[in-house]
Amino acid sequence: MNGMIIATQFGGPIALRMAIGLAVTVVALAIAGRRLLFIGRLVASGQPDHGRLQNIPGRIQAELSEVIGQRKLFKRHAPGIAHAMTFWGFIVLLFTIIEAYGDLFSRRFAIPFIGHTAVLGFLEDFFSVSILLALATFTIIRIKQSPARRERSSRFYGSHTKAAWFTLFMIAMVIISLLGYRAAQTNVGEFPYGWWAFASHGIGRAFSGLGKTVNGDLVTGFLLLNITVIMYFLVFVTYSKHLHIFMAPLNVVTSRRPRALGALYSTPSMDMEEVSEDTVFGAGHIEDFRWKQLLDLVTCTECGRCQAVCPAWNTGKPLSPKLLIMSLRDNMFESAPRLLAKHTTGGSDSSDSGSSSGTEGGEDAPTLVPDTIEPDVLWSCLTCGACVEECPVDIEHIDTIVDMRRYEVLMESRFPQEAGLMLRNIENQGDPWGMGGSKRTDWTYGLDFEIPVVSGEIPDDIEYLYWVGCAGALDERARKSTQAIARMLNQAGVKFAILGPRESCTGDPARRMGNEYLFQEQAKANIDTLQKAKVKKIVASCPHCFNSISREYPSLGGNFEVIHHSQLLAQLVNEGKLTPGKSFSASITYHDPCYLGRHNRVFDEPRDVLSAMPGVKQIEMQRHKERSFCCGAGGARMWMEESIGKRVNMERTDEALSTGADVVATACPYCLIMIDDAVKANQKEEEVKVMDLSQIVEVSLD
Ligand code: SF4
Ligand code: SF4
Repeated sequence: MNGMIIATQFGGPIALRMAIGLAVTVVALAIAGRRLLFIGRLVASGQPDHGRLQNIPGRIQAELSEVIGQRKLFKRHAPGIAHAMTFWGFIVLLFTIIEAYGDLFSRRFAIPFIGHTAVLGFLEDFFSVSILLALATFTIIRIKQSPARRERSSRFYGSHTKAAWFTLFMIAMVIISLLGYRAAQTNVGEFPYGWWAFASHGIGRAFSGLGKTVNGDLVTGFLLLNITVIMYFLVFVTYSKHLHIFMAPLNVVTSRRPRALGALYSTPSMDMEEVSEDTVFGAGHIEDFRWKQLLDLVTCTECGRCQAVCPAWNTGKPLSPKLLIMSLRDNMFESAPRLLAKHTTGGSDSSDSGSSSGTEGGEDAPTLVPDTIEPDVLWSCLTCGACVEECPVDIEHIDTIVDMRRYEVLMESRFPQEAGLMLRNIENQGDPWGMGGSKRTDWTYGLDFEIPVVSGEIPDDIEYLYWVGCAGALDERARKSTQAIARMLNQAGVKFAILGPRESCTGDPARRMGNEYLFQEQAKANIDTLQKAKVKKIVASCPHCFNSISREYPSLGGNFEVIHHSQLLAQLVNEGKLTPGKSFSASITYHDPCYLGRHNRVFDEPRDVLSAMPGVKQIEMQRHKERSFCCGAGGARMWMEESIGKRVNMERTDEALSTGADVVATACPYCLIMIDDAVKANQKEEEVKVMDLSQIVEVSLD
């Protein structure tokens, strides 16, 4: 390059276009920078968070697969491919932006070390065309999913659709101005790429008749248009939901790994032994949220993928995880002066004490519930995890919902009344039904072998402690599965024992309700019992118990090896200790329990067991594995009235029945109860059986 500023034969004075290009850029960068700084300060005003930078390799891997690789978006083919082409396209088109700015100074500009290679020219054109095709795909998707026509069934219902259409228009303008600029260049002898830049040359032919002078002016015009559109788009992005372009990489890299499922997030300040007068449990005002929760709010793309899979939303409840996040975001922006003032004057707690740091919003501050989020919205959540699983930018909906529930329960004593009985029963009797410990061994009556009940330390020859769970021990239907598991363990020669009356509720429903205090009481008592009994290996038949003991007790000092009965059955069948040799001639559809499947990734073992049974024909429901649909019992909803919309268990059972299967199988006592109820409500109990995996395997044993 001969000097930075080189005069040109065509396209007007280079100094003028340089001045225009730079002026537009400086103004846009100033506005966008100010906005990003404001958003950064808002997020930083959140309560301290912890563990967000542990496991750096895992975080880098997540960034590579989810942001660069667009892994979650590829789950849906057409929109996934279109989004990936747009995202990758904009990475490649960063080169065209550098070239455009270089061209402001010199028409012979080339990116140092890269130059004008044919590959770069090809990629730039290839992705320009790909982005246009992607925009066409997005347009079709948006028309098909129009909320005006499809109302609640559209995933864009409630999203800012005008802004989305404008964004598509702006992206189209970026590409059109770029291709126009490059096409005009081909006609003035200034285009540095050969025919590898196929689109630029192709379009250039259409302009060729205009002559060099006009094409020179077009070069300048399209160049300035391209820079202006990009800069305007940059500003627009920082004021719209497209902020995710900047926020998503940050949100993904700071999200819980491998995913915000399984254990609920808890902070050191949720330790009930550290309570002070100022302690605020959970989140009652926007200032109670941790910074990561605020980052979630500004990252939401309003894509509605979470809404589309939410069982509450899909059965007519008022809860949409997307709308919940958007409402909280509105609250955050409205509360910005207060948040920033407090943050600047040190009003928030800066110690690493978690989200509960005694920062009530003040008298005029809108509450999260009910001012921002209606109670019916809050209490509709099943904590099924479908939203978290689906969200392409790793928003952690469940932790935020439960934080608000914690505030409602522990600070305000406001929760659905009928669930109060469940909490009292756990507190007083150790189970949600209030039947008491003395009933916990009733299921063993009638078995033709003895099951040791551990009273002191577990004997050395006992391999597993069988954690039966409240439903497994106390519910009539679930007991049948408990007995089947016990008989099969006995048949396979597995030495096991139970705690009997010393077993108590794990605290799962209390925790999902928001009663962290009761959960911790239950958890600590159970950990104490298990540790005193010197238990090492536990088999649990309830996915909720399995999740609590394996995933949540470690943070309270309880570390045990826990296996779910479906995993153990798969292992025993594999080892030849159980042989399902008799034909079980039936078609079976397996319902994945949320806390076994999505929350703990046990998808294959139950299916492997069914595959090992002669005569079984497995039929998958449309929503299965990661996309399974909740039975309606999660999030302590089992103990709450369901008076709005269609019952979730009916929706799931309708799907199961539509497969035409003879048997609906599951591996969770709560799913069993909920689906069985719905089959009976449909008066289909004569035609369709609802069975736990264990009951099915037992029928087929030699
Ligand atoms: S956890 Fe399930 S029920 Fe709750 S908001 Fe997410 S998808 Fe909806
Ligand atoms: S929370 Fe996630 S999945 Fe839901 S709308 Fe926002 S970005 Fe999309």
